[in-house]
Amino acid sequence: MHRRGFLAGLMACPVCASAARADSDAPHWGYQGEHGPAEWGEMDSRFKACAVGSQQSPIDLTNAIRAEADRMVIAWKPEAFEVVNNGHTIQANSRTGGKLTIGNLDYEFKQFHFHAPSEHAVDGKRTAMEAHFVHAQPGGRIAVIGALMVAGERNKGFSDIIAIAPAEEGEARLRVPLDPASLLPRDRDFYRYEGSLTTPPCSEVVDWNVFTHTVEVAQADIDAFKAIFPMNARPLQPVNRRYLLRGS
Ligand SMILES: [Zn+2]
Repeated sequence: MHRRGFLAGLMACPVCASAARADSDAPHWGYQGEHGPAEWGEMDSRFKACAVGSQQSPIDLTNAIRAEADRMVIAWKPEAFEVVNNGHTIQANSRTGGKLTIGNLDYEFKQFHFHAPSEHAVDGKRTAMEAHFVHAQPGGRIAVIGALMVAGERNKGFSDIIAIAPAEEGEARLRVPLDPASLLPRDRDFYRYEGSLTTPPCSEVVDWNVFTHTVEVAQADIDAFKAIFPMNARPLQPVNRRYLLRGS
């Protein structure tokens, strides 16, 4: 039953498909060797942007330009999330949605998931992990909020997710509602740039917003994630002719 719901969700949501569990139709991609990031662009014609795109993610967040960038207005709801191991990451799928507004653009909250180490770097340095909060518009435009995670004080929300995260492909459900905003830093200064999905098909449709401040989580929870996914971060991509903004 869960599985059917998950697959139906996939059809309706291309961004979800990018992090979907391996299905018969999609080539098997990963983070190492013959299925690794250097090969993604050649694995499937649908993955071409991974190799030939000019606005790819992640990037090194450095030399940002201070700007009066539109603030993010986050309107998520606490929810007993479905927590999925999709073969690439641990992902919490939202059923009730919620909204992100940037300027006059509204996006619907779809899911959040994790990478170890962080995908974005700041001045060349990656952190222990990164959380991605994925939002989409019906037209296919996507906005992702990134939160860089470091070892420190325990974060209850992250602990609760890790506690039930399936070690193999499969899903579980939180028993108590979790406010996803509890996984964000309190200070909401952010970097913003135009980029791509960091997983195949690497589509260049993402408005990226990464907080400049980190969020602390327990080292034990980082270790538990890495026991399932030791390395699921794409290498840094060239910035090319893009602007990196810094707003507050
Ligand atoms: Zn991600």
